Amino acid sequence: MLGAIAGDIIGSVHEFTETKTKQFDLFTPNSNFTDDTVLTVAIAEKLLRGGNYVDNVVDYFNAYPDAGYGQMFLRWARSGSREPYNSFGNGTAMRVAPVGWAFKTLDEVLSEAKASAEVTHNHPEGIRGAQATAAAIFLARSGYSKADLKQYIEKNSATTSRRGWRTSASRINSTKPAKARFRSPLSPF
Ligand SMILES: [Mg+2]
Repeated sequence: MLGAIAGDIIGSVHEFTETKTKQFDLFTPNSNFTDDTVLTVAIAEKLLRGGNYVDNVVDYFNAYPDAGYGQMFLRWARSGSREPYNSFGNGTAMRVAPVGWAFKTLDEVLSEAKASAEVTHNHPEGIRGAQATAAAIFLARSGYSKADLKQYIEKNSATTSRRGWRTSASRINSTKPAKARFRSPLSPF
């Protein structure tokens, strides 16, 4: 999660620019956290303290209303609606990192990633994006290689709309507990 937040801050000054080099200062006077961090923390808080995703997402939006949200999300959050708006954007993937950490098995991660996504992004692509990202995080902490992750995501990205996430014919065991564990409460940083 700290990696996700650091990446958000580091990338904040490069979003919508065409940076083509890896030679840049990681942190600049203009670097800041964005909507990615705010909503990642909203998801983590639901996992740590209970409640529900939609209230946390809206509460965090209200606490940080100028963090750079997308237009569809802004319209939804300001409208007071609690119904999902069928987005297939990347907003679910950008906030799902804690889900990849919080559960013991891939099956649980996939199911909770869906739950965290569908409060706003009930379109299948919005849900799949969250599941792909959460699965990658879970598999990395379970000791699978980059090649395993790539194969798993690629294989499933072609088929999940119709059949759900599959683990047959790959080295992935969807009920095997992860090696690294989520510590609760999060250690302060
Ligand atoms: Mg952002």
